[in-house]
Amino acid sequence: MIDLHCHLDLFPEPAVTVARCVARGVYVLSVTTVPSAFEGTAALVPAGSRIRTALGLHPELAAARSHELVLFERLLPRTRYVGEVGLDGSREHRQSFGKQRAVFNTILQLCRNAGGKTLSIHSRGAATAVLDALSLEPMAGQFVLHWFVGSTRQIARAAEMGCWFSVGPSMLSSRAGRESVAAMPADRVLPESDGPFGMVGETPATPWDAWKVVPSLAEYWRVSPRDVDERIMRTFKALLERES
Ligand code: MN
Repeated sequence: MIDLHCHLDLFPEPAVTVARCVARGVYVLSVTTVPSAFEGTAALVPAGSRIRTALGLHPELAAARSHELVLFERLLPRTRYVGEVGLDGSREHRQSFGKQRAVFNTILQLCRNAGGKTLSIHSRGAATAVLDALSLEPMAGQFVLHWFVGSTRQIARAAEMGCWFSVGPSMLSSRAGRESVAAMPADRVLPESDGPFGMVGETPATPWDAWKVVPSLAEYWRVSPRDVDERIMRTFKALLERES
């Protein structure tokens, strides 16, 4: 199983969740929201596991924590994964949008200067602004758009730019989310939980809940759930190949 976007450090008992991921052999992209959380989160992961820790600066925190960009730059050589980063144009965060954009652009430049990273990118209320920023930094690496809700045109534009999409059970609980997922090219889609923020019903999604998107994907793609499993594994391999 694969969970391409999970906040392992924000679960009530991170060590327990990590141990369960290891026992189940789940590939997890463990994202963080501030650079100062990176080392502690990376330390949760035992050697030889399938969990990778990403260095992040979440757009909702980017303005208040922009001083952590110095730390971001210092830690960047330690990982090939960056996230959660991006832009948030929703009403609560719109007033910091200028600062968010400055931080995100700096992060993209740092990733490009480092030879390219794999990024998990937030874009709530900012789909076009995120795609504009990415299109100016194509050498920043592989872009995985997390929970990307956009028009058919925005999705087509992202796909043309070579972006990947990570989608989770929470996304499928809204009509706009379902329509976005159905419009994504099938060879670009990977599962995510966004736990513990992403929910399955009333419960925070665990990394292995990411796989609950499979039946819906089977419906959209008109293939069997087993074919979806295989396609996801192929997509994951293709992403890993692009990283090297
Ligand atoms: Mn998240």
